[in-house]
Amino acid sequence: MRFSKCFIPTTKEAPSDAVLPSHKLLVQGGFVSQVGSGIYNFLPLGKIVLEKIRKIVKEELDKAGSQEVQLGFVTPAELWKESGRYLKYGKELLRIKDRKDNEFVLSPTAEEMMVDLVRNRIKSYKQLPLNLYQINTKFRDEARPRFGLLRGREFLMEDGYSFHESFEDLDREFDLMEKTYSKIFDRLGLDFRVVDADSGAIGGTGSKEFMVLADNGEDDIVICDNCSYAANIEVAKRAKRIPPYDEKPQMTPGNFYTPEVKTIETLSEFFMIEPYYLAKAVAKKALFEDGNEKIVIYFLRGDDTLEETKALNAVNALELVDVSEEELVKNGITPGFIGFEVKNTQIVIDIDLKDDDTLICGANKKDYHFVGYSLKDKFKDKFYDIAEVREFDLCAKCGGKLSQTKGIEVGHIFKLGDRYSKPLQANFLDKNGKSKPFIMGTYGIGVSRLEAVIIEQHHDDKGCIWTKESAPFMLDIIVSNPKNEDELNFGNKIYNELLSLNKEVIIDDRKERFGFKMKDFELIGFPYALIVGKSLKDGVVELVERKTLKKSVIKKEEILQKLKELI
Ligand code: ATP
Ligand code: MG
Repeated sequence: MRFSKCFIPTTKEAPSDAVLPSHKLLVQGGFVSQVGSGIYNFLPLGKIVLEKIRKIVKEELDKAGSQEVQLGFVTPAELWKESGRYLKYGKELLRIKDRKDNEFVLSPTAEEMMVDLVRNRIKSYKQLPLNLYQINTKFRDEARPRFGLLRGREFLMEDGYSFHESFEDLDREFDLMEKTYSKIFDRLGLDFRVVDADSGAIGGTGSKEFMVLADNGEDDIVICDNCSYAANIEVAKRAKRIPPYDEKPQMTPGNFYTPEVKTIETLSEFFMIEPYYLAKAVAKKALFEDGNEKIVIYFLRGDDTLEETKALNAVNALELVDVSEEELVKNGITPGFIGFEVKNTQIVIDIDLKDDDTLICGANKKDYHFVGYSLKDKFKDKFYDIAEVREFDLCAKCGGKLSQTKGIEVGHIFKLGDRYSKPLQANFLDKNGKSKPFIMGTYGIGVSRLEAVIIEQHHDDKGCIWTKESAPFMLDIIVSNPKNEDELNFGNKIYNELLSLNKEVIIDDRKERFGFKMKDFELIGFPYALIVGKSLKDGVVELVERKTLKKSVIKKEEILQKLKELI
């Protein structure tokens, strides 16, 4: 490729709303341009990178025995009504009508469409397992599209769906997909972790996310410093907490007058005791799928925090919202003094409090707390893991120290079971001739998101630094002064030789200043630059590695061999 003929509009201007390096650099480097909120055009360089990512994804999936298909992007709403997701998916689902008033959705994911494709076509266990995938445009009307390609509304996703006769076979495929996805992210040169994840609204029995470690990530992940345990904070488990005092504090059970002492801090000071022994009550209003709502009181140790996703799952609600003091009072609840025995209200207690008999909690009476409360043999079905794992909590698996870090989700694998095959009546005949719904798995990779993620992990203050498998071109031949015939000829000679070897090379033959071309090289981030300049007359050229910006001087007779080995 000749730079002089390429459409690579690099610019010094960063988008005004860009806060992340990948967002700034992909626009500045002429890879993508924004069309509207969360919608991007891919320019030639951006498209080359996207195709490279897509190729790696395809190669590894094909190797694992998955088959590529391509589904329609516009999906009949009827299918989404059949699965029960049409309303449940909420505002992220873009619903449209055609000229005849038929309803459609723009596919945000394709479980329904894929089940529809397979049902009535695969009829017997003999035709299973089957794994189909596509790499196709998705649309999600995200509440907050931002960070460039990282959270778009229109984006490219690889989404795969597998069909099985049993859960055992699904488990086998799930492990295979974990390995396959790991290989893909390894090849792309990413530092990532596979973490336990929430099964969420889509429903299912097991789920893992692939998280690229990045300070700018939107996800919080918990990692064990000692073993391989890693989990999204939404589901992260911890070992039972160790009490702060060697001996149990002495408490004589009974009500205690605590005027105006409403917060954990003041209560801790009042009793001169660690918040560990105080039961904190967090009141929320839970909204349910059927339109119902109710107040739920969550109880945790005073120095623990309620984890929203865990709290949501504990009561099977769609959403949790705050509830005002007036509303609590109206329901006979005493804010600031709520205890376990609160009347006519659903309660959920954190699992770490199970069997605890040395607690101070509200007395459900204004200005009183109960001291020495025991949970032994009480509220048996009310205990759930609802607390957020804290830095240095201990690992439930090995007892090692847990630490927290940030990640960007690049992939997600999910055991669906019959969540979709059942309502869509997608059945097969098993070995005994019995009709059963398919057992399914679903798998997804954010292909366009990956283009930004690579840069998020590989850049410096000058620009992008593409990895070997993702680089738009491996080498940028910079002819310092194209008016000098010797320089231009030598550059062209190397360029043509490398092209004939199918090497990915671009020649910067633009009639621009050397400094300008060097800046573009640094901004765009090709792994290497070959500088053909004044020193050619002394028989040498310069090779620059983008990652380190280290230059080496090489004899012009030796450069071709050197490059052949390098790129
Ligand atoms: P997130 O929590 O980031 O919204 P998700 O759980 O909604 O992701 P999935 O439904 O599992 O995502 O989709 C599979 C993959 O698609 C994700 O792992 C992610 O890499 C990518 N993806 C999801 N939403 C977006 C988006 N708005 N823009 C770009 N890529 C996305
Ligand atoms: Mg999402």
